[in-house]
Amino acid sequence: MTHRTRPPSRICPNCDGFASAAITLGGRDHRGHLRTITAHCPACHGTGTARRSPVQEGARV
Ligand SMILES: [Zn+2]
Repeated sequence: MTHRTRPPSRICPNCDGFASAAITLGGRDHRGHLRTITAHCPACHGTGTARRSPVQEGARV
C-alpha cells in the first residue's frame, strides 16, 4: 500500500473537498426518516474543487 497523494484537481479550501453535507432538521417525517437538507459549499457549489479564478463567490454578504 502506498500513501495516497492528493488528487490532481484542486480541492476547495473552504470545504476541504466535503462540498455537501446533510443537515438534520430535527424530527422525522411521517415515514420515520430523519428530515435532512443538503447544504452545498457556497464557494464551490457542491463540486468540492476550487476554481482557477481567485474570485470567491459567496464572499460578499
Ligand atoms: Zn467547497
